[in-house]
Amino acid sequence: MLFSELRLIEPILKAVESEGYQKPTPIQEKAIPSILKLKDLLGCAQTGTGKTAAFAIPMLQILHMRHLKTAKKAVKALVLTPTRELAIQIQDSFNAYGKNLPVKNLVIFGGVGQQPQVDALRKGVDILVATPGRLLDLMNQGHISLSDIEIFVLDEADRMLDMGFIHDVKKIVGKLPAIRQTLFFSATMPTEIEKLANTILKNPVTVEV
Ligand code: AMP
Repeated sequence: MLFSELRLIEPILKAVESEGYQKPTPIQEKAIPSILKLKDLLGCAQTGTGKTAAFAIPMLQILHMRHLKTAKKAVKALVLTPTRELAIQIQDSFNAYGKNLPVKNLVIFGGVGQQPQVDALRKGVDILVATPGRLLDLMNQGHISLSDIEIFVLDEADRMLDMGFIHDVKKIVGKLPAIRQTLFFSATMPTEIEKLANTILKNPVTVEV
């Protein structure tokens, strides 16, 4: 299959082409059409499979098309990931595939000053990539509202559990609108992660690679 067969809009197709990708990876081939149909997704995939593009590309397309006329200043998508390194990589992906679109993203993580992140939030952000601790801090201080989230991505759910973040993740999920699209990624599916997936996904399409 080719990227051009995935019903992607021209600005995204061009951006993907300029990354030099020849064709979609298996997870991209399976996940992108389901996400574009607004389905929830359970993706069992390791890093290195192209999973970031598998969610970032359709998210950019959905948000861009949906908000062409209504440029509301609100965080519309949230990607939760366990580490600062992953958060930065994910932001790089949104920047790369979204370079021809006006969709704005921001990455926030702990261990650095929060003021630049607060200032950036004020300017308006469509997609927020975050680690759980800093996100909760900024939410508790009233700097971030999740009430307009349309798409929620939980990345590396099993590592969230290993790193002791699962309680924070559940708190954050509790603040999300009930009506939303949820994309859940985990390399492994221990019982606790399966339970979490069952509580936060609605009729998901499962993709295993
Ligand atoms: P990820 O699994 O999301 O961490 O991606 C692993 C690496 O694969 C990243 O460096 C991507 O830039 C690269 N990549 C993602 N999709 C493709 C593709 N369709 N063809 C070639 N490389 C890709």
